[in-house]
Amino acid sequence: MATIFNKIINKEIPADIVYEDDEILAFKDIEPQAPIHILVIPKIEIATLNELSDEHELLTGKIIHRASLIAKEMGLSEDGYRLVINCNKNGGQAVYHLHCHLLGGRAMQWPPG
Ligand code: 5GP
Repeated sequence: MATIFNKIINKEIPADIVYEDDEILAFKDIEPQAPIHILVIPKIEIATLNELSDEHELLTGKIIHRASLIAKEMGLSEDGYRLVINCNKNGGQAVYHLHCHLLGGRAMQWPPG
């Protein structure tokens, strides 16, 4: 099922895009939970972590790697940051298109709420 993120991928609705290639898009979260809050997503539709299969291993690695590169570009590496992927109801997932949150610019709490 297509989500709002498909509309962002297809440029049907605007987003503040910070990175794009053939497979991946990264853009600022519309409701930031930290001074820096970026969503890194695959362009193909994968609803949740539950839908991942062997064929997605390289792509998921690229998403994590890209998030780390964006974090570096944004000056977050030294102080640190957090990557989060929410899955389904108990994980707090709201948009059913796989996405990795990059959160930085403030200290994070652990354990999460
Ligand atoms: P989830 O709870 O599914 O892990 O996170 C979904 C995220 O997508 C939320 O942080 C929410 O603010 C963000 N989001 C939802 N709709 C839009 C949108 O239209 N544009 C942008 N840039 N972010 C969105």
